[in-house]
Amino acid sequence: MKQSEIAVVGGGIIGSAIAYYLAKAGFQVDVLEAGEVGSGSTQAAAGMLGAHSEYKEFGTSLYPFARSSQKLYEEAEAAIRSLTGIDIERRTGGLLKLVFKEEERARLLELCSLEGVTWLDHASLTDKTPGLAESVLGAVHMEEDVHVTPAIACNGFRSAAQVLGAEIHTYTRVEKIGKEAGHYQLQTSKGKWQAERVVIASGVWSNSILEQTGLGSSIFPVKGECIAVTNTQAPLRCSLFHDQHYIVPRNNNELIIGATKVENDWTTEPTLGGIQTVMEKARQMLPGIDEMPFRRSWAGLRPQTFDGKPLIGEHPEMKGLFIAAGHQRNGILLAPATGKMIADLLSGNDVSEEWKEAFRVDRPYSNEE
Ligand code: FAD
Repeated sequence: MKQSEIAVVGGGIIGSAIAYYLAKAGFQVDVLEAGEVGSGSTQAAAGMLGAHSEYKEFGTSLYPFARSSQKLYEEAEAAIRSLTGIDIERRTGGLLKLVFKEEERARLLELCSLEGVTWLDHASLTDKTPGLAESVLGAVHMEEDVHVTPAIACNGFRSAAQVLGAEIHTYTRVEKIGKEAGHYQLQTSKGKWQAERVVIASGVWSNSILEQTGLGSSIFPVKGECIAVTNTQAPLRCSLFHDQHYIVPRNNNELIIGATKVENDWTTEPTLGGIQTVMEKARQMLPGIDEMPFRRSWAGLRPQTFDGKPLIGEHPEMKGLFIAAGHQRNGILLAPATGKMIADLLSGNDVSEEWKEAFRVDRPYSNEE
């Protein structure tokens, strides 16, 4: 039987960031991943770190948590580069939340009281972003809502964790979890595993393990479809965002265009209807997109929870069993803060009581955020 001090179940961006922060804190970590690292929802993501663009409420627990994660990315980027040589492609430039109607402007202007958020009118916008639709009235520029390339960031956390001593076991699916003589026993596709402590970070697939521990089925999929084109026009320095849709520029000159929102759909193939929807939204923002060569399309599943907040914390009855899942459309953004929170909880370090309560894994169902 193989043995670990800490077994992390799932090697997406959340499991990889957890492995990194745990290894950095000196724990002996094994990541058990059913397929390849980053092959789940993580590889489908656009990679925006949208602490300002994603949330509507700024006085709640999620916004400060997201901001702390945005800031941790600065440190993580440097640490990953120095440990592994990997550049996670954290691009500056920020994000433009576009405004097409007066009522949108009134709502978005309120955001300008937040740090790093400013209003740009049409004239200053078109200087910054040539090719933008004439009908755009202006935009709120969110300077710190930068982006990374998700698969590379995940690989960066994984590789940095390995340099710090973590071991990664791919094609090792955890099928059953139990506890005997004070140790967790995991039945995996590659045999039995024993661990002193376990962290479930299996994204949208976490329910099958959570149900075995008496926690309900609190995570469900929200499918998102995307396309990529080659940018043959002026380089885009900022991501463009409107009405939950976006265009994100990559270092390789691709523009990532996304994404639809289809609840409770477990399929991972894009539909023609989905592609048409994202194309229409992209055309409204950047009409020249019609002329750009099509590269590929894909779909992924966002791990959604009933109240919009992730589940991060210890199981209420099974001591030493931790959960970090349900990051919905913001798992790339929230990965460093989640990894650090889990490492702090396991190390016995102080963790914000507000975050512990907000992300409690057995919290009652509600829709407050
Ligand atoms: P995953 O990446 O799915 O990782 C879970 C891993 O667990 C998988 O690799 C899986 O193989 C493994 N696993 C499952 N079951 C088991 C088991 N029993 N045993 C072992 N391993 C198991 N977020 C942002 O912050 N910014 C964005 O711009 C953004 N854009 C997105 C766009 C789209 C179209 C989609 C679909 C999502 C987007 N997201 C974005 C959300 C983000 O992708 C997710 O929140 C994030 O990837 C979740 O990471 P995870 O590690 O929890 O899950």
